[in-house]
Amino acid sequence: MDVWEGDFVYVTGPMQDKIGTVRDVDYFCKIRPSKYERVVAKVDTSLYGEFSPIEHLWVTFQRNSIEKDKMRLWFLSPLSDGPCVSNSDMVPFSLFNLDGFPISSIRAERGEGYYEEDRVVYLSIDKGEGYAIVQGSEYYEVTFIYEDEEIKTIVCNCYCEGHCKHEYAVLLQLQDLVADWAVNFDENYPKQEYFAAIDKTVAWNMNVSRRQKEIIRLTEDSYEGLIIYED
Ligand SMILES: [Zn+2]
Repeated sequence: MDVWEGDFVYVTGPMQDKIGTVRDVDYFCKIRPSKYERVVAKVDTSLYGEFSPIEHLWVTFQRNSIEKDKMRLWFLSPLSDGPCVSNSDMVPFSLFNLDGFPISSIRAERGEGYYEEDRVVYLSIDKGEGYAIVQGSEYYEVTFIYEDEEIKTIVCNCYCEGHCKHEYAVLLQLQDLVADWAVNFDENYPKQEYFAAIDKTVAWNMNVSRRQKEIIRLTEDSYEGLIIYED
């Protein structure tokens, strides 16, 4: 793996959960094998495509722009555990009536707080398979199935028994994207069976602020969207 100064990477060892920046590359150095930690992944921070800014998120319907396998590494080490698989027989419920979602009112309230604090930092649905990253005390991964405006299953990889505040925050965020933005969503999602959204502050820190050239243009109606060009 070629790494360069400034690259974001993950390494083995005690720092394995933290994303790091390459400070210096040295080809000739003595290493004690017991102290040696390997670089296990270099983070692909490329970002281009057409986005619509919706609240704190940049949303795209284009594949191969901010797809989940790439974006997971913006938040989590490849050595981390990964999302959970649902093993409960959940009764499907409408995304727009969360009364059907079995969660305690205290957790729902906390989830609402998370949603209001813009803690859902990544969200995507690919052919009904949903995936989200929520910022809590650490980053948690929520997976769900969304079909015909219904949630069929939803599970989070935090260690809480039953349904949690992270899942609730994701449901509220999804309601927002699907409903408040119905015109665009109804037009675009069925065509691609895909959408993805990234937190704009994260996008700025990981990519835009590090670029030299002007790479963002607003589309004709400036409120409509922005296009990020390839370098
Ligand atoms: Zn959770």
